[in-house]
Amino acid sequence: MSESIRRAAIVTGGSRGIGRAVCLALAAQGLDIVVNYAGSAAAAAETAALCEEKGVKAITVQADVSTAQGADALFEAAMAAFGRVDVLVNNAGITRDGLILRMTEEDFDQVIATNLKGAFLCAKKAARIMMKQRYGRIISISSVVGVHGNAGQANYAASKAGLIGMTKSLAKELGSRHITANAVAPGFIDTDMTRVLPEAAKTALLGQIPLGALGRPEDIGSAVAFLASEQAGYITGQVLGVDGGMGM
Ligand code: NDP
Repeated sequence: MSESIRRAAIVTGGSRGIGRAVCLALAAQGLDIVVNYAGSAAAAAETAALCEEKGVKAITVQADVSTAQGADALFEAAMAAFGRVDVLVNNAGITRDGLILRMTEEDFDQVIATNLKGAFLCAKKAARIMMKQRYGRIISISSVVGVHGNAGQANYAASKAGLIGMTKSLAKELGSRHITANAVAPGFIDTDMTRVLPEAAKTALLGQIPLGALGRPEDIGSAVAFLASEQAGYITGQVLGVDGGMGM
């Protein structure tokens, strides 16, 4: 691609946590950023401002990616602002944990709708644009539990395993158009999502991590930035564990 083309990335759930770190890592590589969020407008604005400090343009877009209308609105706003989408990071995610006997149908449906269907809806929009560009990177944030499972997370683990199957399928479908699709599988990362865990659970988790610490959102940001880069152009259909060795 010509040096003069400025690239743009959409990060779903870019307002906080891992999504914010991904936005900042991509901004540091010179990409303009679309910070999507569900409800945290102030946090999203703060992420966008931090990106702009790195010398790129950034916009915020409120959109529920679990609905087709939300995904449509997100991509319309991105195209209106930047005229292209080079990188899609499917990061938006929720948990509704519970053991299977207690997990409600609604808990299951909500998690699948946000974590898996949301990624499908966004990938479908991105694929159309990227096929015309003959260039693109689709990166989905899976999880170590999507590979190994986790008691109390049948819905969440299913959504994250689903992302891996979808990623490999997209890699096969879109490779001829120079579009790569990869997944990043974080272990336990210190964000709002894991801050709610009881201390005893965190201590038990630390015992399962060879590197002996929770990960930082920046650890995921740098892995995503690598997969989004030119240097990763021959990597597709892969699941990159960023988990302190937990998933071995
Ligand atoms: P947070 O709970 O800190 O942030 C979740 C983000 O997703 C927020 O930006 C939130 O927006 C957004 N979001 C939620 N629902 C929607 C929706 N329907 N439409 C658009 N945006 C939405 O989570 P983390 O940063 O911890 O996690 C980010 C991703 O990484 C998730 O997919 C998660 O499953 C995955 N992951 C996290 C791990 C961890 O240990 N933290 C481990 C493995 C994977 P808003 O701020 O507006 O609510």
